[in-house]
Amino acid sequence: MKKKYDVIIAGCGVAGLYAALEFNNKTKILMLSKKEQTVSGSALAQGGVAAVLDHEDDSFDLHIEDTLIAGGYKNNVTAVETLVREGPQDVLKILEMGVEFDRDESGRLFKTLEGGHSRHRIVHHKDQSGWEMVKKLLEAVRQRDNIDLLENTMILGIESLHNGFRADLFQSGEYFSAYGSFLLLATGGIGRVYKYTTNPSTSTGDGIRFAYEMGAKIKNLSLVQFHPTAFNSPTGREQFLISEAVRGEGAYLLNNDLERFMNKYDERLELAPRDVVSRSIILESRRTGSNNFYLDIRRKGKEFLKNRFPAISAACLERGVDISEDLIPVFPCQHYLMGGIDVDLNGRTTIPRLYAAGECAHTGVHGGNRLASNSLLEALVFGRRAAQDIQRALESGYSLVEVKDYKIRPQGAPLPKGIRTQVRDIMQRAYFVMPDALAIRQGHARLEEILTRLHNGSFALTPSYCEALSIATVATIILREVDE
Ligand SMILES: Cc1cc2nc3c(=O)[nH]c(=O)nc-3n(C[C@H](O)[C@H](O)[C@H](O)COP(=O)(O)OP(=O)(O)OC[C@H]3O[C@@H](n4cnc5c(N)ncnc54)[C@H](O)[C@@H]3O)c2cc1C
Repeated sequence: MKKKYDVIIAGCGVAGLYAALEFNNKTKILMLSKKEQTVSGSALAQGGVAAVLDHEDDSFDLHIEDTLIAGGYKNNVTAVETLVREGPQDVLKILEMGVEFDRDESGRLFKTLEGGHSRHRIVHHKDQSGWEMVKKLLEAVRQRDNIDLLENTMILGIESLHNGFRADLFQSGEYFSAYGSFLLLATGGIGRVYKYTTNPSTSTGDGIRFAYEMGAKIKNLSLVQFHPTAFNSPTGREQFLISEAVRGEGAYLLNNDLERFMNKYDERLELAPRDVVSRSIILESRRTGSNNFYLDIRRKGKEFLKNRFPAISAACLERGVDISEDLIPVFPCQHYLMGGIDVDLNGRTTIPRLYAAGECAHTGVHGGNRLASNSLLEALVFGRRAAQDIQRALESGYSLVEVKDYKIRPQGAPLPKGIRTQVRDIMQRAYFVMPDALAIRQGHARLEEILTRLHNGSFALTPSYCEALSIATVATIILREVDE
């Protein structure tokens, strides 16, 4: 590994990987992932990518309208138009790179329906769409000589310098620094701020903390999406997702009395947008006094389900549920962040040379609520646009970041146990699906205390401390925003 790069890309999800491939092969890039390269929100994506790939029965206007309806018309309309109109080319490009999406017998891409979409436009690889994309994009990145890929390497902190950035890194007990003239944050979501989330262990909001600490504008962090149908397991933090596509294929949502109930809350029934379905479940749970909810897809039959949802079928079976014979227990769970590091259409933050893309960024495309399967599309479109903007800046001549002598001093007090759990309990009580005003006020005050303690406690610079700091920072910004 070198010490000095043109660009550091923090994150190996779809946003980071696709962006990396957009640079020319003279641009020296360092790509980092906190865990193995295949551990990311992207790798877990089941449903697929939404894009208007033909105009027989669909149109850009319809996709734009569906996105705006789901977002409550709070979206940035220019960003939505960019997403919808440019997205299909990026989907075609990843197909050319070898990503395989399901096709019918005549070889045409098979498109499915998901909640909030008025047309069948989600292309997918069975129920492992994200895994397929990450696998193929990683293969392509690994073939590039200009990209150094480091996995199990955590960025602990970022220092903004005159002509770039210094990233302080931790890998297998070693501390070292790397310098980049440009930095692209593609660190994914914030799920681990909650007790129950579909997000992987990497989703602790580190990139958002780095940007916040450097003084970048953070926007709409309180716009958190809860997925209505995670597998309801009483144990385990990372809840397994029962994709929207299962309802797209006709699953019924049932209450504790095994009755369909969505007709009481929304005329779109099970295919209403996620926030509506999540809220309906919470209201129905208050009405019935029970947290027991189920998805029923049994009538589709064993063969269809095994072929269409192999990963979901297998994961449910591991948990003792045969989805062709049994009801699937479900309950809402934190799933996605609409807000984040505020960026323009080219991924620029409010700090020169600092870019963000993917789930950690706020482009405004999702408005108040993300339409299903629009986020992988956002990671592709705006990851590419950020890379193109940086490449243009590199080609127009720029001053290189200066490497200075710097030694990380990791020593300090050990992190007291239970801080992360406290933060997660606060968020779960105060700001889950339907916010609780009193718990927000009390939780906010407590979070400010926790954050001050983390900053002033002279704690050792360990990965645990840095993740606790990220989680506490993100949670505090969220409750600060809603407690105003
Ligand atoms: C279960 C599940 C199912 C989903 N299904 C769909 C779907 O069907 N369609 C859809 O459009 N969207 C879906 N989403 C959402 C979508 O997958 C994500 O929004 C998107 O993949 C985010 O991509 P990303 O590249 O921004 O981040 P991620 O893919 O999460 O990647 C983040 C990267 O940043 C790295 N990182 C983080 N912090 C650090 C650090 N401190 N140091 C070094 N590296 C760091 C991580 O290691 C990782 O490599 C789903 C999400 C989940 C969790």
